[in-house]
Amino acid sequence: MAEREHETSFDMAIAQFDAAAAPMHLEDHIWARLRKCKMVVSLSVPIERDDGKVEVYDGFRSYHNDWRGPTKGGIRFHPGVNIDEVKALSVWMTWKCAVMDIPFGGAKGGVVCDPGALSQREMEKLTRRFAFELSPFISPMKDVPAPDMGTNPQTMAWIMDTYSILHGYSVTGVVTGKPLAIGGTSGRLEATGEGVAGCTLLALKEMGANKDAMTCAIQGFGNVGSNTALALHREGVKVAAVSDVFGGLYNPKGLDVPAMAEYVRGNKGSIQGFKGADAVTNDELLELPVDILIPAALENAISLGNADRVKAKLIVEAANGPVTPAADLILYAKNIFIVPDILANAGGVTVSYFEWVQNFSAIRWSRDRVLGELKRVMAESFSDVMEIAKRERVNTRMAAYTLALTRVAEAGRIRGLFP
Ligand code: NAD
Repeated sequence: MAEREHETSFDMAIAQFDAAAAPMHLEDHIWARLRKCKMVVSLSVPIERDDGKVEVYDGFRSYHNDWRGPTKGGIRFHPGVNIDEVKALSVWMTWKCAVMDIPFGGAKGGVVCDPGALSQREMEKLTRRFAFELSPFISPMKDVPAPDMGTNPQTMAWIMDTYSILHGYSVTGVVTGKPLAIGGTSGRLEATGEGVAGCTLLALKEMGANKDAMTCAIQGFGNVGSNTALALHREGVKVAAVSDVFGGLYNPKGLDVPAMAEYVRGNKGSIQGFKGADAVTNDELLELPVDILIPAALENAISLGNADRVKAKLIVEAANGPVTPAADLILYAKNIFIVPDILANAGGVTVSYFEWVQNFSAIRWSRDRVLGELKRVMAESFSDVMEIAKRERVNTRMAAYTLALTRVAEAGRIRGLFP
C-alpha cells in the first residue's frame, strides 16, 4: 500500500483491494471487474419543505458486485455523502458479506442532507421520495437496503411501505433493520455493537490479554458506539472514554456506560453534559493512554497526521474505513493489533441476513437465537482470518481481504463472463 494518503475513499478502497489481490494471481478479468462498481445510480429527490419551498436533494446508490447474491448495504443521510464515498462503501460491503460468508453482494446508498435540520414530516417525505425513485433498483431478490448513519428503523419502515404500495402487497424483505412490528428481527439494533465487542474479546484472547484489566476509548456514541460500549462494559472491559460529534468525555477509572446510554436517550442522542468525566476533543480521544481504541464514527479518523501518536495496543474498526492505508503502515509497524472493519462491524449485515431469512420463511427467531448465531458466525470468521494471517504471514487486514477475495473471485469464476 502506498505511503501517502489517497485522494478519495474510492481510491482508498481500490488501493486496499489491489494490495490484497496482487499476491493472489487472480485472472485479469476478475481483477478488472472487481476494481469497478457494476452500476451507480444518481437520483434527484425533490420535496416540499414545511415552509412551502421546494428543495432538491441528491441521492445515490452504488452497486459494486452481486456474484454471491443480492446486493446489501445501508442508506446514509448525512451532509458529507457523495458519490465517491458511496462507491467506496459499496466495495467494502462486498468484502464484508464475503468475510462473513453470507450470500450477499455489496451496495450502499445515501442522500446529501442534514437530518438534524429536517422535521420528522420532512424526513418522511425525503425518505419516501428517495424510495420511490430507487424502487426500480431494489427488491428482496435484487438489492436490500438497511440503516446507516442518519437513518433508523423508522426510515426503513417508510421505504418498505412506499415499495409495498407501489407493488400492491406487503414486501417485508425489501429492507432490513425494520421495526419488529413489520418483520424486523430481535437483536438487529444492537447487532453491530455486539459484533464489535465480540471481536474485541476474541482479539484480546488472541493477544493473551486479560479483558478485566483492559481500558477502552470509543469514538462515536451512536448506534454502534453505544451498543459496543454497553456490551464491553457488561463483559468487564473498562470503557474510559467515549465521544460524539461535539467532543468526548474521559475518566480513566471507567465511565458508567448504562447510565450514559440512559442519559443520551433523554439528551437528543448526545453525551454532552454527562457528569463524572473530563472533556476531551475527538482528536485527543484517539491518542489517550488506553489499551483498546474503537473508532465508531466516520472514515479516516486515524491518518498520517495522528497514527504515530496512537497509544492503544488493539484497534477494532467499528466504523467503515476509519484507518487510512498510510496510517495502516504506521500502526502495523508499531505492532498494534487491528481488527479490520470488514470483519469487526459485520455483525449488522449478518443479523440483517438473519432478518431477510426470517422474512422469507415467515418464522420469527428469538433474540437469543439471533445473537447466538451471530456469535458463532463471528467466531468462525475471526478464526478463518487469523488462520490466513498466520499461514500467509500477512497482517489481519490483508488476511481478511484474502479470505473475502477468495470467496468473491470463486463465485465470479464459476459464473463466468457473459456473453
Ligand atoms: P450513528 O449516526 O448512530 O452515530 C454516529 C456517531 O458518531 C454519533 O455519536 C455522532 O455524534 C458521532 N459523530 C459523527 N461525526 C463525528 C465526528 N466528525 N467526530 C466524532 N464523532 C462523530 O451511526 P452508526 O450507525 O453508529 O454508525 C457509525 C459508523 O459505523 C459508521 O461508519 C457506519 O458506516 C458504521 N457501521 C454502522 C453499522 C450499523 O449497523 N449501524 C454497521 C456497520 C458499520
